[in-house]
Amino acid sequence: MASKSILNILGKGKPSKIQKPQSVSSPSRVLDLNLGDGWEVASQTCLIYTPKPTRKEDEARSEAQVSKDLKTKVAAFDLDHTLIKSKSGAKNFSIAPTDWKWLFPSVPQKLRELADQGFQVLIFTNQGVTVVKKDSKSMGNFTTKMQLIFCQLPVKLYAACRLPKKTVSLDGKDFRKPSTEMWQLALLHLGISKDDIDMENSFFVGDAAGRPDDFSDSDKVFAHRIGLTFHVPEEYFV
Ligand SMILES: [Mg+2]
Repeated sequence: MASKSILNILGKGKPSKIQKPQSVSSPSRVLDLNLGDGWEVASQTCLIYTPKPTRKEDEARSEAQVSKDLKTKVAAFDLDHTLIKSKSGAKNFSIAPTDWKWLFPSVPQKLRELADQGFQVLIFTNQGVTVVKKDSKSMGNFTTKMQLIFCQLPVKLYAACRLPKKTVSLDGKDFRKPSTEMWQLALLHLGISKDDIDMENSFFVGDAAGRPDDFSDSDKVFAHRIGLTFHVPEEYFV
């Protein structure tokens, strides 16, 4: 695909409108496809990956349920150029499932520490070149890559992908940031509302911050709409 088309999908050059934080409402549809191996699809275009929890994580979750008065701390991240980058040097996206490396060496250890500290670690990523369709090469590459990256880490991933050509969305939802649809879906999955989130200690890290060299400000606006503290990756990981 031409780089111009990719940038169009990502919304280059169109600063997102700053809005007040939105209230959380339940999506009308939740999951409409279970692909197995931890993969599910919501509203035809949002791919969700939940790694199998380890025994230790299962125990930690049970303990958390006992102390229900505790609010949920969320550590949320963008994916590309926030947690990982391509190994090959491909500018926008990796060209194969193994074409990735951590953006900073400290990333996996940091994600593990956050989970051990009781944070729900969530990833919200726009994947405009990934088509959600059975036997789609782009979806196969993406799901394989994510399993390689996150099978050892307690993180949950939400990816706003795109419909195959000539396919019309059943409910018209747009999950791409700065829309907050992925966040609302995550709350629904966790079985909590915004009032259950420890907003003071929760945060979002992303590289699309509207700086002069950034392709967009979608991460910053996403965090602002939810009401989360925002950091850029070099500020958070270095
Ligand atoms: Mg990014």
